Amino acid sequence: MLELKDVHVSYGSVRALEGISLQVGSGELVALLGPNGAGKSTTLRAISRLVPLRRGAIVLDGAVPLHRDPPEGVVRRGVVHVPEGRQIFPELTVEENLWTGAFTRRHRAEIRQDLEAVYQRFPRLKERRHQLGGTLSGGEQQMLAIGRALMARPRLLLLDEPSMGLSPRLVEEVFTIIGDLHREGVSILLVEQNAHIALQVAGRAYVLENGRVVLSAPARELRSRE
Ligand code: ADP
Ligand code: ADP
Repeated sequence: MLELKDVHVSYGSVRALEGISLQVGSGELVALLGPNGAGKSTTLRAISRLVPLRRGAIVLDGAVPLHRDPPEGVVRRGVVHVPEGRQIFPELTVEENLWTGAFTRRHRAEIRQDLEAVYQRFPRLKERRHQLGGTLSGGEQQMLAIGRALMARPRLLLLDEPSMGLSPRLVEEVFTIIGDLHREGVSILLVEQNAHIALQVAGRAYVLENGRVVLSAPARELRSRE
């Protein structure tokens, strides 16, 4: 479904990605692991077109050169990024935040149905639908960020460190939802510093170091090495 071919990205003189090649098959949940600074977040930013490629290609469905789309075009194609740090709009209500996730869509009746589906998946968000995003707890903000992404009807979700800063109980809750989405057929590329958690849900994993893929293996192989 998604293929990165020899992707290079620099921030000024900092070479963040030095030839990343990887694939996410349709319906797969793939983990992107590795130490801080390895290039995991930059890989997601390259896919969602938040940083330009210096070299290489990003191809969707074997044919579409995603690296030529603007960021909004990537969302329209069903590739939706949940950046690290629970990026929501603190001054908008929970419900308004969710509506912003549907910015590429026009049919209001359909959007309302999807809103209800998000509320079923995240009952805590429904209870707080009229509260400002900034007043939610960290875990609720992470759920809101994921819920907002679902409003764009993703085929491929790019999740950046969804466990960051959450209590173990909330991590479990968030990862149960990630597992559910995977079972429902959403493809997922999951960045995690906590390899243990990621390998419980992922089918395959890539390990990045210094902007390169240093290991690619089925998750069960990596689990047995832990
Ligand atoms: P993580 O390693 O958890 O992905 P970072 O700490 O690298 O996150 O980055 C956090 C934020 O700081 C990001 O928005 C990133 O773009 C920015 N950032 C990271 N490294 C640098 C840097 N060397 N110079 C400027 N901004 C940076
Ligand atoms: P990871 O997500 O694996 O922690 P990142 O993709 O955040 O890694 O960072 C990869 C490299 O790029 C690091 O050396 C980081 O300092 C650098 N970097 C990330 N974001 C920025 C930025 N906005 N400006 C400059 N350097 C950055």
